[in-house]
Amino acid sequence: MDRKNQHFMQDPRSQYDLSETKYDSSQPDPGLDTLLQPKADHGERSYKGSGRLTGRKALITGGDSGIGRAVAIAFAREGADLVLTYLESEETDGKETEQYLADSGVKVCSIVGDISNEEFCKELVHFAVDRLGSIDILVNNAAQQYYVEKLADLTSEQFQKTYATNVFSMFWITKAAVPHMPKGSSIINTTSIQSYQPSAGLLDYASSKSAITGFTKSLAKMLINEGIRVNAVAPGPIWTPLQQSGGQRPEKIENFGQGVPMGRPGQPAELAPMYVYLASQESSYVTAEVMGVTGGGHLP
Ligand code: NAD
Ligand code: MG
Repeated sequence: MDRKNQHFMQDPRSQYDLSETKYDSSQPDPGLDTLLQPKADHGERSYKGSGRLTGRKALITGGDSGIGRAVAIAFAREGADLVLTYLESEETDGKETEQYLADSGVKVCSIVGDISNEEFCKELVHFAVDRLGSIDILVNNAAQQYYVEKLADLTSEQFQKTYATNVFSMFWITKAAVPHMPKGSSIINTTSIQSYQPSAGLLDYASSKSAITGFTKSLAKMLINEGIRVNAVAPGPIWTPLQQSGGQRPEKIENFGQGVPMGRPGQPAELAPMYVYLASQESSYVTAEVMGVTGGGHLP
């Protein structure tokens, strides 16, 4: 669902009118953008770069789909070379993202693997430094989210895997990356509105996002001594495969995002400019912050 007119002044509530659209309630795990119905807007046709990241080197986790894909498209069009990573089972989405980046004139490399594994996290950073020479922007964006209604049904395996994927990976990747990050670099972690307003049924996910918010603020205070800024973006309800593939109860998908003041879910394309801002030197006085993009659901 690309919007050619995204740059025109318009009522944000009706910018993406999906009232007549049939939402598929679910798809198999892991969710794929290729199967997402209705299609999401990643800025494929609308994002226009203006050289804000020329020559920067960026590593983006979960760059195949959803918010990560929108960030990859925006960063590439702003002139950054990229390394993307995602799960092996998501290669269809990864290849499609690469196709959108093909004409942006920057270098794009991908590596598949599971970031809940510490060894892969180290390998990923090694790969990125080998291909790009440095890491100037690190976007820790990948995460898993599985809705489990009752506490008794939430397994230790799921709880631990959620934390390994969403939180521990951030520690492993960041620790390995920082020695390769020059002064002026920027780390951007994807947290969530769930960090502040946790839903029942997302006990592991929501609390992992609260951990990411705390991790971001503490890390920012450590790394400013090395000239590196660290911030987080907290999205509200955004239309991505994460939601359709077990992130929400299937019954909730039909009305997904309608509870926020904007009355609709956000599109990945509406997130990307915030990541560009935090990655670029324009945000030079911004660190240890969490920036909400919530459709009015707002952070505390
Ligand atoms: P998405 O499914 O498109 O992206 C998540 C990505 O995480 C996947 O594409 C996958 O590549 C990666 N991933 C998951 N487990 C992994 C693993 N073990 N190893 C390697 N990669 C793995 O969905 P999205 O909504 O774009 O999610 C991106 C970020 O946005 C996540 O951190 C999510 O928590 C956050 N977020 C999403 C929403 C929303 O409503 N969609 C709201 C708040 C926060
Ligand atoms: Mg994906």
